[in-house]
Amino acid sequence: MELMILILQSASDLIAYIDKIKQANNSLGFVPTMGALHEGHVTLARRSVAENKVTIVSIFVNPTQFNNKVDLAKYVRDLDGDALKLQSAGIDAIFAPTVDDIYPTGTVTGSDIDLGGLDAYMEGPSRPGHFKGMAQVVKRLLDLVKPDKLYMGQKDFQQFTIVDFFIKNLKIPTELVVCPIIRESNGLAMSSRNERLSRPTRDEAGIIYKTLKWIKKNQKTKAVDELIQVSTAKINAVTPFEVEYISIVDGYTLIPIQDFDNHDYVVVCTVVGAEGVRLLDNEVLRK
Ligand code: AMP
Repeated sequence: MELMILILQSASDLIAYIDKIKQANNSLGFVPTMGALHEGHVTLARRSVAENKVTIVSIFVNPTQFNNKVDLAKYVRDLDGDALKLQSAGIDAIFAPTVDDIYPTGTVTGSDIDLGGLDAYMEGPSRPGHFKGMAQVVKRLLDLVKPDKLYMGQKDFQQFTIVDFFIKNLKIPTELVVCPIIRESNGLAMSSRNERLSRPTRDEAGIIYKTLKWIKKNQKTKAVDELIQVSTAKINAVTPFEVEYISIVDGYTLIPIQDFDNHDYVVVCTVVGAEGVRLLDNEVLRK
C-alpha cells in the first residue's frame, strides 16, 4: 500500500492544521501513542474515526516518562510501519513531533500538574517520575491538539485514571474515552514490549490473564489476602514469570483494599516480569 497519510512533524504545522478543523467546526478525536503500533492502538484509532469527523494520532516516544534509559533506547521506532496501519484505520493525520518541539525549553523531568496522589501506588514507587512525565506530555499534547475526545486504553489503568483526574481537575474541555484491553489469542494483553519476549515465553504468558480471571471468579468466596497469595503462586509456578505485584485496589483512589466491603469499583492490577520485560495487565472485578 502506498503511504499517503498526512504526517505533521512540527508543532507549528499541527497548530495550522488544528485551526482549519476548528474553523470548520469539525469534531476532533485524538489518540496519543508512543508508536510501535499493534492492534490495541489501532482499535483506539478506529473508535475515534467512528465517533469524530477528524482523528489525529500522535507518535512520540516521551523521554520524560522513562526512568529506565535502557527501556527508552530499546523502544521500537517504526514511523513508516505505524503510518501504514493508521492509514488503513482511516485516520486523518499523524502528529510525529521531535523532542525539541514538545519540550522547547529542554526535557526537565516533572511538572507541577496535581495528580491527586494517584501516582503513590502500584507503578508509582517502582517508576519514579513516570506519571509526572506522562502527565506533562499528555497535557502538552492536549494544549496543542485541543480535541473533543481523547482515546486511551484500559490496559494502562493507573495512567488513564491519572489523566481522568487532571483533565477534570484542570477543567480541560476534553472527554476521556477508555477502550477495552485488546489481547493476543492466549489472553496476553497486547503491548509493544511483547515483541521482546521469546516465542515460548510469549505463548506461556496467557497465565497472567487466566489468573486475573481466576481472581474475578473467586472474589466472593476468598479474602483479598488469600486471592493475592494464591494467584501470585500460580503465576510464579510458571517459568520464567515472576510477579512484581498483584494489587486489588479501589478503582477511584487506587488504594489497595483489605476487603471488598464498601467498595463499588474494584480492580486487580498486576505487573509480571519475564525476560527483562514488565508485563502489565488488569481486570475490573466489580463496578
Ligand atoms: P503506548 O503507545 O503504549 O503508550 O499506548 C498508547 C495508548 O494505547 C494508551 O492509551 C494505551 O493504554 C493504549 N493501549 C496499549 N496497549 C493496549 C491494548 N492492548 N489494548 C487497548 N489499548 C492499549
